[in-house]
Order: sequence, then C-alpha cells, then structure tokens
Amino acid sequence: MPRKPTSIGSTPKSIAARKPLLFGNRPFIDFANSSYCPEETTDPLDSWIGFLHFSVMSGTMDAASADKLAGFTGPETNRALTEAVTLRNELTDLCGHVAKNATVPDKAISTLNAILQYEDGGLRLGTASGGFSMSFTPSRGSAMQSLTAIARSTADFLCNDQLSRLRACSNAHCPLYFYDTSKNGRRRWCRMEVCGNRAKAADHYKRSKQ
Ligand SMILES: [Zn+2]
Repeated sequence: MPRKPTSIGSTPKSIAARKPLLFGNRPFIDFANSSYCPEETTDPLDSWIGFLHFSVMSGTMDAASADKLAGFTGPETNRALTEAVTLRNELTDLCGHVAKNATVPDKAISTLNAILQYEDGGLRLGTASGGFSMSFTPSRGSAMQSLTAIARSTADFLCNDQLSRLRACSNAHCPLYFYDTSKNGRRRWCRMEVCGNRAKAADHYKRSKQ
C-alpha cells in the first residue's frame, strides 16, 4: 500500500553513492550483472530503495515513478524484491546459456512470462546523450510492475537482437556479460580499463619471460 511519499531525491547517501556497473548495453544484462559487487558498489537488491535507485540509473524507470514507488513498504515490496532476486538468477543463467550458444532454459521463459503479465503501465520514449531510451511508467503503481521493464528488455533482446552478440567477458575470472554493439562485433571485455588491460599486461609479462 502507498504510504507517505519518500523522494528518491532524498535517498540515503549510501544508496545514492552506488554506481551500478552499466556497460551491458541492455538493461536486463546490467540487471543480471548487478549481483557482482566490487568494492565501490552494493547489491541493489539489498533494499527496495536500492532497487528503485538502480532502475532509474539503468534507465528502466523514470525518476517520478520511482519516487511514487519509494513510498511503498511492507509485504508488497518484500514480494517484489524476492521476485527480483529470482528474476536476476534466471537472467544470469539465461546470459550464460546464450553466451555459450545453448538453448534458453524453459524456466527463464516461464519466469519472464509470469512477470510480463503485470505489464499495464505506459512506456516512455526519452532522449539521452545523442540516443534514445525507453523507460517504464507504471499506470497505477504496483511494486510488481517495477520488474516488467527488465522482463521486457529481455523479451526484446530474444525477439529482435543478435543472440550471438551476447557474450561473457573473456577474462575467465570475471562473471560479467555484455551485448556487443561494436561495429566489427569483436568486443571481448566487460571493461577495457579493467579486464582488457589486465589481460594485455598478463600477455606482455608472459612474452617478456619467454
Ligand atoms: Zn570482465
């Protein structure tokens, strides 16, 4: 049930300071990647506000809707958070399968369909840094609706994108995924400045030893 509105603008500093890893090029991939929390980040699914903050940062929800939903508490938000954890696990599994060119697990499809049926909000086309983005505006505002934009991003990917461009980072110790939007389609790393440079340095070290 809605309570007195809590503005996302007055989000506690600890949450506002969280910078999610957003390089997946698809919201559902960023969401799947969000379980990986290096030092400076925190799991957005630790709290309802954390999840809303992540949704705004990753572009799946507009700030006004997040502000409205931030006033929700109790069983409804607990349920949405529990479903969000399930969804994220399924999406990580889905990314793993697609990246290996394996069939998308049926379980992921049924989880997505269970969430997509909550979609009765509106979509909003926005412009940002030279491109376009689609965000979700819940029509009547329910906690479960907040997950539909992520499910839709996955469905859009499965229906319209090149599945072979969803890849795991080439660093064997890195658990992150991305959608390769580069022209030549040869992106290998989640982030060049982290995994790419590390691999280059390791190669260089190996060569210098030979
Ligand atoms: Zn990586």
